[in-house]
Amino acid sequence: MDRDQARIAQAEVCKTAKKMYNSGLVAGTWGNISARIDDEYMAITPSGMDYEGLSDEQMVIVNMNTLEYEGNLKPSIEAVVHAGIYKARPEVNGIMHTHSTNALTVATARREIPPICEDQVQILGGSVRCAEYAMPGTPEMAEACIKALEGRNGATIANHGAITVDESLAKAFTGSMVLEKAAQVFIDSQLLGGPVELTGEDVDTFTDFFRNKYGQR
Ligand SMILES: [Zn+2]
Repeated sequence: MDRDQARIAQAEVCKTAKKMYNSGLVAGTWGNISARIDDEYMAITPSGMDYEGLSDEQMVIVNMNTLEYEGNLKPSIEAVVHAGIYKARPEVNGIMHTHSTNALTVATARREIPPICEDQVQILGGSVRCAEYAMPGTPEMAEACIKALEGRNGATIANHGAITVDESLAKAFTGSMVLEKAAQVFIDSQLLGGPVELTGEDVDTFTDFFRNKYGQR
């Protein structure tokens, strides 16, 4: 393992954990965050720590094949889920898992969020599926998440929360915010008779717009 890469990943995880704490995504229960170091190792938030006082070196370095870890702090119980996703998705370098309220509401109803928000489709890749229920921190939960995330960067987890992945942790963080908003829109629009889904044609048109015409370049 390249120690410089490991330190960069630890710093990124710690910074994002504090950002998550201030974002309102973790009201009540804490989620967990990780960044890939290489094909064998990841850095992940420790289990049961107070997030405000976290320091970079407290982010736990875990071997994704054996789940052995360095140092005295135990990694998050959901390390097995993060490791499974990194192994199944080589392009993923950052993962965020939260128990945010609206995502959890949809996950508890075990509903799929159809493609309704433009940023949802652009960033998360379309509908947001709900991973089947499994005990937290088990290989079964990892399998259920990998399946629900197929071709997507976000999913909810039945009666548990949400998970987002991306090529960087910063992007996975944005994905968490977008997923939480899509969940809220999905819930609120039920009051008005339910959401109207975007058509495949609309999705293609604005995906092209975001990729090629939006922003400064
Ligand atoms: Zn959880």
